[in-house]
Amino acid sequence: MRIGIIALLQESNTFIAQPTRLAHFEEELLVTGEAMRDRLAGTHHEVGGMLHALEGEQAEAVPIFAARALPFGVVEKPAIETLMHMMLAAMDAAGPIDGLLVAPHGATVSEPWPDVDGHWLSEVRRQLGPDRPIIGTLDPHGNLSPAMAQACDALIAYRTNPHLDQRARGIDAARLICRTLRGHVKPKMAAAFPPLAINIEKQHTAEEPCVSLYRRADEQLADDRVVSNSIMLGFPYADVPEMGSSVIVVTDNEPALARQLADELAGYLWEHRKEFEGEFLSIEGALDKSASLSGPVCLLDMGDNVGGGSPGDGTLLAQAIHERKLPKGLVVLCDPESVAMAEAIGEWGTGLFRVGGKTDKLHGPPLACEATVQGMFDGKFEEPHPRHGGIGSYDQGRTAVVRTDTGLTIVLTSRRTPPFSLRQITSCGLNPAEFHLIVTKGVNAPIAAYREVCRTFLRVNTPGCTAADLAEFHYERRRRPMFPFERDAEWRAGARG
Ligand SMILES: [Zn+2]
Repeated sequence: MRIGIIALLQESNTFIAQPTRLAHFEEELLVTGEAMRDRLAGTHHEVGGMLHALEGEQAEAVPIFAARALPFGVVEKPAIETLMHMMLAAMDAAGPIDGLLVAPHGATVSEPWPDVDGHWLSEVRRQLGPDRPIIGTLDPHGNLSPAMAQACDALIAYRTNPHLDQRARGIDAARLICRTLRGHVKPKMAAAFPPLAINIEKQHTAEEPCVSLYRRADEQLADDRVVSNSIMLGFPYADVPEMGSSVIVVTDNEPALARQLADELAGYLWEHRKEFEGEFLSIEGALDKSASLSGPVCLLDMGDNVGGGSPGDGTLLAQAIHERKLPKGLVVLCDPESVAMAEAIGEWGTGLFRVGGKTDKLHGPPLACEATVQGMFDGKFEEPHPRHGGIGSYDQGRTAVVRTDTGLTIVLTSRRTPPFSLRQITSCGLNPAEFHLIVTKGVNAPIAAYREVCRTFLRVNTPGCTAADLAEFHYERRRRPMFPFERDAEWRAGARG
């Protein structure tokens, strides 16, 4: 059995003015053929899981194409055209295959195709023909479309957020395609699309209301006829018709049962929709609250969520900590200009900095401060443990650690880097346990790394292109009515989708 593997992962935030370019993929991951093995075998990524499981099944893995870029703006037209051309040409060059494993993200948007994943999955389906299986994984932050479900025999989303089971779900998909090809199972998939968006604040799968939702999903798995089920939490920062939460159920040759169970799970989500709204704790409220908590307290900067596309140079929390002169604060900001300035000043030198706030006007102005350079670092580090995103090697570029006269430590990076690994700061000689307040640029994803040291996590409702309060955004293309935008929206499971 020869099984092809194709992965294209990018989360596109349509509220960011700048596009994702081909260079963003080239910087992170853009490979075809056997080079995929060098980059992804043995990793905690789903493709790492697929390669591992195919070997165990004595099937031949045929790596075809893998591309990934950090979440950012919409993928520009020349970039997506090049990616599509590379993907389909590599598929052609791979020769005959018996089935295809796919790893879309599910929330990629481009100028010519708002539903990029629906488009590329349909294209590979066309090239493979209708009879051979296409089975894959999904990031639960995808906005599932009918076209995506239509093109595939089965799709399996990660069950954790932060995503710690990417490799495990890749293994599931690979084993399922082998069982399908051996005639042991006939996957039948149904999806349901209730018109609602789960707030990002409520997407941590180890906290309520997700715990009860996933327990409900787990109960369905007790039925032998159910092969898998998935909850797509959704990515609300995309103004596209498929934006929203959805569910998927795959059964063994029982299409009616798949439909019924998908409707049941979607019905549960809809009934409990008010539990999935945000709480919106203010900056001032978060600082007041953290004063009485024993540290380190992690302040999750939701409006500047790098994993949701934000620039990572938002200063609003840093500014508030600096103004209150709260000692033992730590923040990481992407600011290559300030890194260059620190380099010029030299270690233990002091200067007047204007850090962060340079990308746009949504995330606060630059923070003006007098700061002393504590050290310069190359910014490269490895993360050996399973962490959100399944990334093993990081390069945040030349990095400076500076400390302001009020006691705020600022890690300045040259490249935008998501806070998915504690080594982002420990590799710069900092001990996170010594801080009282640690600002991280995310909502749920950083928790997998930071729970090693932080006692409390406070999600802070900062403004920005990933603000938690969806009322901040102007949508033109989303479905209407939709909860929570139209609070009196009505829906009945089975009525559509
Ligand atoms: Zn995700």
